[in-house]
Amino acid sequence: MSSRKKRTLSRREFGALAVAGAVSLTAGSPANAGNSKRPGWIDAHVHVWTPDTKRYPLDKNFTVKDMQPKSFTPEELFAHCKPSGVERVVLIQMSFYRFDNSYMLDMIAKYPGVFSGVGIVDHRRNDVSCKMKQLAEKGVRGFRIHSHGDDAKNWVDDEGMANLWKAAREQNPAVCPLINPQDVKYIDALCQKFPGTKVVIDHFARIGLSGKFEKGPLDALCRLARFPTTYVKTSAFYALGKKKAPYLDLIPLIKRVYEAYGPQRLMWASDCPYQVQGNYSYDPAIALIRDRIDFLSEADRQEMLRGTAERLFFA
Ligand SMILES: [Zn+2]
Repeated sequence: MSSRKKRTLSRREFGALAVAGAVSLTAGSPANAGNSKRPGWIDAHVHVWTPDTKRYPLDKNFTVKDMQPKSFTPEELFAHCKPSGVERVVLIQMSFYRFDNSYMLDMIAKYPGVFSGVGIVDHRRNDVSCKMKQLAEKGVRGFRIHSHGDDAKNWVDDEGMANLWKAAREQNPAVCPLINPQDVKYIDALCQKFPGTKVVIDHFARIGLSGKFEKGPLDALCRLARFPTTYVKTSAFYALGKKKAPYLDLIPLIKRVYEAYGPQRLMWASDCPYQVQGNYSYDPAIALIRDRIDFLSEADRQEMLRGTAERLFFA
Protein backbone atom coordinates (compact mmCIF):
# COMPACT_ATOMS: atom_id res chain seq x y z
CA MET A 1 0.00 0.00 0.00
CA SER A 2 1.38 3.39 -0.93
CA SER A 3 2.05 5.85 1.84
CA ARG A 4 -0.46 8.23 0.29
CA LYS A 5 -3.23 5.75 1.05
CA LYS A 6 -2.08 5.29 4.62
CA ARG A 7 -3.32 8.69 5.73
CA THR A 8 -5.32 8.91 8.95
CA LEU A 9 -9.08 8.71 8.60
CA SER A 10 -10.91 11.96 9.20
CA ARG A 11 -13.52 11.98 11.94
CA ARG A 12 -16.30 12.01 9.33
CA GLU A 13 -14.86 9.02 7.46
CA PHE A 14 -14.36 7.13 10.68
CA GLY A 15 -17.97 7.85 11.69
CA ALA A 16 -19.26 6.65 8.31
CA LEU A 17 -17.34 3.40 8.63
CA ALA A 18 -18.63 2.91 12.15
CA VAL A 19 -22.23 3.38 11.00
CA ALA A 20 -21.63 0.79 8.30
CA GLY A 21 -20.33 -1.59 10.97
CA ALA A 22 -16.77 -1.61 9.58
CA VAL A 23 -15.24 -0.39 12.83
CA SER A 24 -16.57 -0.29 16.34
CA LEU A 25 -16.92 2.84 18.43
CA THR A 26 -15.60 1.61 21.74
CA ALA A 27 -14.30 3.72 24.59
CA GLY A 28 -10.87 5.05 23.74
CA SER A 29 -11.35 4.82 19.96
CA PRO A 30 -10.23 7.89 17.97
CA ALA A 31 -13.77 9.13 17.36
CA ASN A 32 -14.71 9.54 20.99
CA ALA A 33 -11.38 9.62 22.80
CA GLY A 34 -11.79 13.34 23.49
CA ASN A 35 -15.21 12.87 25.00
CA SER A 36 -14.47 9.80 27.07
CA LYS A 37 -11.78 11.74 28.91
CA ARG A 38 -14.22 14.46 29.87
CA PRO A 39 -14.91 14.48 33.57
CA GLY A 40 -18.33 14.75 35.09
CA TRP A 41 -21.69 13.10 34.79
CA ILE A 42 -24.15 13.19 31.90
CA ASP A 43 -27.81 14.13 32.29
CA ALA A 44 -29.54 12.31 29.43
CA HIS A 45 -32.77 14.32 29.26
CA VAL A 46 -33.28 18.07 29.60
CA HIS A 47 -35.46 20.57 27.73
CA VAL A 48 -34.35 24.13 27.12
CA TRP A 49 -36.28 27.08 25.76
CA THR A 50 -36.02 30.83 25.53
CA PRO A 51 -38.52 33.62 26.17
CA ASP A 52 -37.35 35.11 22.85
CA THR A 53 -40.33 33.90 20.81
CA LYS A 54 -39.59 36.41 18.05
CA ARG A 55 -36.38 34.72 17.09
CA TYR A 56 -37.64 31.24 18.01
CA PRO A 57 -41.42 31.18 17.34
CA LEU A 58 -43.65 28.63 19.03
CA ASP A 59 -45.67 26.11 17.08
CA LYS A 60 -49.21 27.30 16.30
CA ASN A 61 -50.69 24.91 18.89
CA PHE A 62 -48.86 26.66 21.75
CA THR A 63 -48.85 30.12 23.32
CA VAL A 64 -46.41 31.76 25.73
CA LYS A 65 -48.78 30.79 28.56
CA ASP A 66 -47.82 27.15 27.92
CA MET A 67 -44.20 27.98 28.68
CA GLN A 68 -43.88 27.07 32.35
CA PRO A 69 -41.35 28.16 33.53
CA LYS A 70 -41.18 31.15 31.17
CA SER A 71 -37.53 30.52 30.46
CA PHE A 72 -35.13 27.61 30.82
CA THR A 73 -31.93 28.42 28.98
CA PRO A 74 -28.63 26.51 29.14
CA GLU A 75 -27.32 29.11 31.60
CA GLU A 76 -30.29 28.48 33.92
CA LEU A 77 -29.72 24.74 33.59
CA PHE A 78 -26.01 25.01 34.45
CA ALA A 79 -26.86 26.72 37.76
CA HIS A 80 -28.73 23.55 38.75
CA CYS A 81 -26.63 20.76 37.23
CA LYS A 82 -23.01 21.90 37.61
CA PRO A 83 -23.02 21.88 41.45
CA SER A 84 -24.00 18.18 41.17
CA GLY A 85 -21.05 17.42 38.88
CA VAL A 86 -23.06 17.18 35.63
CA GLU A 87 -20.94 18.51 32.76
CA ARG A 88 -22.75 17.21 29.68
CA VAL A 89 -26.42 17.06 28.80
CA VAL A 90 -28.64 15.50 26.17
CA LEU A 91 -31.14 18.12 25.06
CA ILE A 92 -34.59 16.89 24.10
CA GLN A 93 -36.50 18.97 21.56
CA MET A 94 -39.30 20.82 23.34
CA SER A 95 -42.87 20.29 22.16
CA PHE A 96 -43.52 24.08 22.00
CA TYR A 97 -41.32 24.22 18.92
CA ARG A 98 -42.71 21.06 17.33
CA PHE A 99 -40.59 20.26 14.23
CA ASP A 100 -38.48 23.43 14.41
CA ASN A 101 -35.35 22.20 16.18
CA SER A 102 -33.44 25.47 15.69
CA TYR A 103 -33.20 26.66 19.33
CA MET A 104 -31.83 23.29 20.43
CA LEU A 105 -29.39 23.21 17.49
CA ASP A 106 -28.19 26.74 18.23
CA MET A 107 -27.52 25.82 21.86
CA ILE A 108 -25.59 22.70 20.77
CA ALA A 109 -23.45 24.95 18.56
CA LYS A 110 -23.04 27.62 21.26
CA TYR A 111 -21.55 25.16 23.79
CA PRO A 112 -19.36 22.73 21.81
CA GLY A 113 -18.96 19.33 23.43
CA VAL A 114 -21.47 20.06 26.19
CA PHE A 115 -24.72 19.09 24.49
CA SER A 116 -26.04 16.31 22.33
CA GLY A 117 -29.57 16.45 20.95
CA VAL A 118 -32.72 14.43 20.44
CA GLY A 119 -34.78 16.09 17.72
CA ILE A 120 -38.33 15.79 16.48
CA VAL A 121 -39.10 15.20 12.80
CA ASP A 122 -42.41 14.83 11.02
CA HIS A 123 -42.48 11.12 10.21
CA ARG A 124 -45.27 11.71 7.66
CA ARG A 125 -42.91 13.63 5.38
CA ASN A 126 -41.58 11.72 2.37
CA ASP A 127 -38.13 13.13 3.02
CA VAL A 128 -37.96 12.13 6.69
CA SER A 129 -34.74 10.16 6.15
CA CYS A 130 -33.08 13.17 4.54
CA LYS A 131 -34.25 15.47 7.33
CA MET A 132 -32.79 13.07 9.92
CA LYS A 133 -29.44 13.10 8.11
CA GLN A 134 -29.36 16.90 8.09
CA LEU A 135 -30.08 17.06 11.81
CA ALA A 136 -27.43 14.43 12.56
CA GLU A 137 -24.84 16.70 10.95
CA LYS A 138 -25.72 19.33 13.56
CA GLY A 139 -25.32 17.04 16.57
CA VAL A 140 -28.67 15.25 16.78
CA ARG A 141 -28.21 11.64 17.93
CA GLY A 142 -31.81 10.61 18.56
CA PHE A 143 -35.37 11.25 17.44
CA ARG A 144 -38.27 11.58 19.81
CA ILE A 145 -41.61 9.98 19.13
CA HIS A 146 -44.38 11.03 21.47
CA SER A 147 -47.68 9.22 21.93
CA HIS A 148 -50.81 11.25 22.50
CA GLY A 149 -53.80 9.44 23.96
CA ASP A 150 -53.73 5.91 22.56
CA ASP A 151 -52.23 6.68 19.14
CA ALA A 152 -49.11 4.57 19.75
CA LYS A 153 -51.00 1.52 18.49
CA ASN A 154 -51.23 3.20 15.09
CA TRP A 155 -47.43 3.46 14.93
CA VAL A 156 -47.01 -0.26 14.33
CA ASP A 157 -48.46 -0.22 10.80
CA ASP A 158 -47.79 3.41 9.94
CA GLU A 159 -45.74 3.92 6.78
CA GLY A 160 -44.11 7.12 7.99
CA MET A 161 -43.13 5.54 11.29
CA ALA A 162 -41.64 2.61 9.35
CA ASN A 163 -39.55 5.09 7.34
CA LEU A 164 -38.32 6.73 10.53
CA TRP A 165 -37.37 3.40 12.18
CA LYS A 166 -35.63 2.16 9.03
CA ALA A 167 -33.72 5.42 8.58
CA ALA A 168 -32.68 5.29 12.24
CA ARG A 169 -31.36 1.77 11.73
CA GLU A 170 -29.35 2.85 8.68
CA GLN A 171 -28.06 6.14 10.10
CA ASN A 172 -27.59 4.95 13.71
CA PRO A 173 -29.40 7.51 15.90
CA ALA A 174 -31.74 6.23 18.59
CA VAL A 175 -35.52 6.34 18.43
CA CYS A 176 -36.67 7.81 21.76
CA PRO A 177 -40.30 7.02 22.63
CA LEU A 178 -42.15 9.03 25.25
CA ILE A 179 -44.98 6.63 25.95
CA ASN A 180 -47.49 5.57 28.57
CA PRO A 181 -47.21 2.22 30.38
CA GLN A 182 -49.84 0.51 28.20
CA ASP A 183 -47.89 1.46 25.04
CA VAL A 184 -44.84 -0.73 25.71
CA LYS A 185 -46.39 -3.56 23.66
CA TYR A 186 -46.44 -1.37 20.55
CA ILE A 187 -42.74 -0.59 20.93
CA ASP A 188 -42.18 -4.33 21.30
CA ALA A 189 -44.01 -4.88 17.99
CA LEU A 190 -41.88 -2.20 16.30
CA CYS A 191 -38.68 -3.77 17.67
CA GLN A 192 -39.77 -7.07 16.13
CA LYS A 193 -40.37 -5.35 12.79
CA PHE A 194 -37.15 -3.32 12.82
CA PRO A 195 -34.52 -5.28 14.75
CA GLY A 196 -31.29 -3.36 15.17
CA THR A 197 -32.88 0.07 15.52
CA LYS A 198 -31.65 1.64 18.76
CA VAL A 199 -34.50 2.48 21.11
CA VAL A 200 -34.26 4.56 24.28
CA ILE A 201 -37.44 4.47 26.37
CA ASP A 202 -38.06 7.69 28.33
CA HIS A 203 -38.79 7.66 32.06
CA PHE A 204 -39.41 3.87 32.52
CA ALA A 205 -42.30 4.24 30.00
CA ARG A 206 -43.89 6.45 32.71
CA ILE A 207 -44.57 3.44 34.91
CA GLY A 208 -45.35 4.93 38.34
CA LEU A 209 -46.87 8.14 36.97
CA SER A 210 -50.24 7.11 38.44
CA GLY A 211 -48.53 6.46 41.80
CA LYS A 212 -48.70 2.69 41.19
CA PHE A 213 -46.04 0.54 39.53
CA GLU A 214 -48.28 -1.41 37.16
CA LYS A 215 -47.09 -5.02 36.97
CA GLY A 216 -48.19 -5.82 33.40
CA PRO A 217 -46.43 -2.86 31.79
CA LEU A 218 -43.34 -3.34 33.98
CA ASP A 219 -43.10 -6.98 32.90
CA ALA A 220 -43.52 -5.82 29.28
CA LEU A 221 -40.79 -3.20 29.70
CA CYS A 222 -38.42 -5.84 31.10
CA ARG A 223 -39.27 -8.25 28.24
CA LEU A 224 -38.26 -5.52 25.78
CA ALA A 225 -34.70 -5.99 27.07
CA ARG A 226 -34.46 -9.17 24.93
CA PHE A 227 -33.75 -6.83 22.00
CA PRO A 228 -30.09 -5.95 22.47
CA THR A 229 -30.47 -2.40 21.13
CA THR A 230 -33.09 -1.29 23.66
CA TYR A 231 -32.25 1.09 26.52
CA VAL A 232 -34.17 2.71 29.37
CA LYS A 233 -33.86 6.14 30.95
CA THR A 234 -34.07 5.92 34.73
CA SER A 235 -35.42 9.43 34.99
CA ALA A 236 -38.14 11.94 35.91
CA PHE A 237 -38.14 10.85 39.54
CA TYR A 238 -40.20 13.91 40.55
CA ALA A 239 -43.12 12.48 38.52
CA LEU A 240 -43.16 8.84 39.63
CA GLY A 241 -44.40 6.85 42.64
CA LYS A 242 -44.71 9.02 45.75
CA LYS A 243 -43.11 11.87 43.77
CA LYS A 244 -41.11 12.90 46.79
CA ALA A 245 -37.39 13.15 47.50
CA PRO A 246 -35.32 11.15 48.31
CA TYR A 247 -37.36 8.89 45.94
CA LEU A 248 -36.43 5.70 47.79
CA ASP A 249 -39.78 4.14 46.77
CA LEU A 250 -38.41 4.00 43.18
CA ILE A 251 -35.57 1.64 44.12
CA PRO A 252 -37.56 -1.60 43.41
CA LEU A 253 -38.49 -0.21 39.96
CA ILE A 254 -34.84 0.62 39.25
CA LYS A 255 -33.83 -2.86 40.46
CA ARG A 256 -36.25 -4.54 38.03
CA VAL A 257 -34.92 -2.67 34.99
CA TYR A 258 -31.33 -3.08 36.24
CA GLU A 259 -31.79 -6.86 36.37
CA ALA A 260 -33.37 -6.90 32.90
CA TYR A 261 -31.09 -4.46 31.06
CA GLY A 262 -27.88 -4.22 33.07
CA PRO A 263 -26.18 -0.89 33.78
CA GLN A 264 -24.78 -0.63 30.23
CA ARG A 265 -28.31 -0.09 28.91
CA LEU A 266 -29.59 2.28 31.58
CA MET A 267 -28.99 6.00 31.81
CA TRP A 268 -29.97 8.49 34.44
CA ALA A 269 -31.67 11.76 33.52
CA SER A 270 -33.36 14.61 35.37
CA ASP A 271 -36.07 15.77 32.91
CA CYS A 272 -35.29 19.38 33.77
CA PRO A 273 -36.74 21.93 34.04
CA TYR A 274 -39.50 19.83 35.62
CA GLN A 275 -37.14 18.32 38.19
CA VAL A 276 -36.35 21.81 39.54
CA GLN A 277 -39.82 23.39 39.85
CA GLY A 278 -41.65 24.20 43.09
CA ASN A 279 -40.25 22.22 45.99
CA TYR A 280 -38.21 19.96 43.72
CA SER A 281 -34.48 20.29 43.22
CA TYR A 282 -31.74 18.77 41.13
CA ASP A 283 -29.33 17.04 43.47
CA PRO A 284 -31.80 14.61 45.14
CA ALA A 285 -32.54 13.18 41.65
CA ILE A 286 -28.93 12.34 40.80
CA ALA A 287 -28.22 11.41 44.42
CA LEU A 288 -30.64 8.48 44.23
CA ILE A 289 -28.36 6.72 41.71
CA ARG A 290 -25.07 8.22 42.90
CA ASP A 291 -25.40 7.65 46.66
CA ARG A 292 -28.44 5.71 47.76
CA ILE A 293 -28.69 2.32 46.07
CA ASP A 294 -26.75 -0.51 47.73
CA PHE A 295 -26.96 -3.01 44.86
CA LEU A 296 -25.19 -0.64 42.42
CA SER A 297 -21.41 -1.01 42.25
CA GLU A 298 -19.15 1.95 41.53
CA ALA A 299 -18.79 0.65 37.94
CA ASP A 300 -22.60 0.44 37.60
CA ARG A 301 -22.95 4.07 38.67
CA GLN A 302 -20.30 5.13 36.15
CA GLU A 303 -22.38 3.47 33.43
CA MET A 304 -25.76 4.85 34.51
CA LEU A 305 -24.47 8.36 35.12
CA ARG A 306 -22.10 8.64 32.15
CA GLY A 307 -21.02 5.58 30.15
CA THR A 308 -24.31 4.53 28.55
CA ALA A 309 -25.32 8.07 27.54
CA GLU A 310 -21.80 8.79 26.33
CA ARG A 311 -21.78 5.81 23.95
CA LEU A 312 -25.24 6.59 22.59
CA PHE A 313 -25.25 10.36 22.43
CA PHE A 314 -21.66 11.61 22.51
CA ALA A 315 -19.75 9.09 20.36
ZN1 LIG B 1 -39.01 15.48 29.18
